[in-house]
Amino acid sequence: MKRVYNFSAGPSALPVEVLQKAADEMVSYGDSGMSVMEMSHRSSYFIDILHEAKKLFKELMNVPDNYEILFLQGGASTQFSMVPLNLLAKSNKCDFMVTGSWAKKAYQESARYGEAKVIASSEDKTFSYIPKVDSKDFTPDADFFHICVNNTIFGTRFTPDNLPDTGNVPLVGDMSSNILSEVYDVSKFGLIYAGAQKNMGPAGVTAVIIRKDLLGHAKDFTPTMLNYKIHADNDSSYNTPPCYAIYICKLVYEWVKANGGVAGMEKANKEKAQKLYDFIDKSKLYKGTVVPEDRSLMNVTFITGSDELDALFVKESKKAGLENLKGHRSVGGMRASIYNAMPMAGVESLIAFMKKFESENA
Ligand code: PMP
Repeated sequence: MKRVYNFSAGPSALPVEVLQKAADEMVSYGDSGMSVMEMSHRSSYFIDILHEAKKLFKELMNVPDNYEILFLQGGASTQFSMVPLNLLAKSNKCDFMVTGSWAKKAYQESARYGEAKVIASSEDKTFSYIPKVDSKDFTPDADFFHICVNNTIFGTRFTPDNLPDTGNVPLVGDMSSNILSEVYDVSKFGLIYAGAQKNMGPAGVTAVIIRKDLLGHAKDFTPTMLNYKIHADNDSSYNTPPCYAIYICKLVYEWVKANGGVAGMEKANKEKAQKLYDFIDKSKLYKGTVVPEDRSLMNVTFITGSDELDALFVKESKKAGLENLKGHRSVGGMRASIYNAMPMAGVESLIAFMKKFESENA
């Protein structure tokens, strides 16, 4: 069986152990005589899977008891609407840091329902840094303050100790591309959301961690399916949940736990990212596109300075079994997404290829 090193930004590589376990259980799950794909979401088999997934996710993220965990559909993009519909409950105001395309989309969606303010943006320098902010500029009575914790396209991140201090204003974090990659203190957030398809499972499920006091204040016109309280009251099974995707998430959580938990992931991710960034920094051909202190551990962006060479790099790397290294269509260049499931050997193969390419194209 041939497996490539897949540097896709999402959907992304999953741990091979997870895929193998899913394959073993594909036709008959346990003694059920049926696939997880075929079973009722009201069956005890599936309810056990759902509860185990929730329990493991809570444990891995160290989620305090005053938070609810939800498994929803509609991707992270649906959260751009759900957050304002449910959280704009008092002043109808919200603050945003626009550090990339996803943060901007979230801001634009909130602006449809409330008074959304951009506190800071890094668009002036192609989102290559995280702006410094002063809490004096924050809206004191905002209903929430939104950040995109890891910017998948541009390769920047808010580190766990560089989160804006929003005081009593709930901090909302889009962690779609760095969930479970590094230890963040959940209690610093009012709400965290993450589409699964990068670090957690297949596309089709979005995890939400919401502080319980933020439930139950949705706008009157909020569609039932977009109301967090409905999903919380119904244990994420108000309608048919994305059963198979939740099941794969459960397997990924088991894998993360068996490999040292989020702290274990963080250690491995820092080693991988450091090795790649160090190589880029020392090279004469490649240049990182992000200021060093704000670099993502998950999405490593770099260029050669020549569009032709970038295109050749992507073409040649594919031939070498290194897939999906092309940068996002909006920025060009290269992007190596090195999520939890990417082994160090994958990063080492990439560096070996980059060295060879540099020697042939210097
Ligand atoms: N936020 C971030 C940080 C993302 O990387 C993405 C997708 N790549 C999204 C939101 C949108 O996610 P979805 O496609 O699940 O709606």
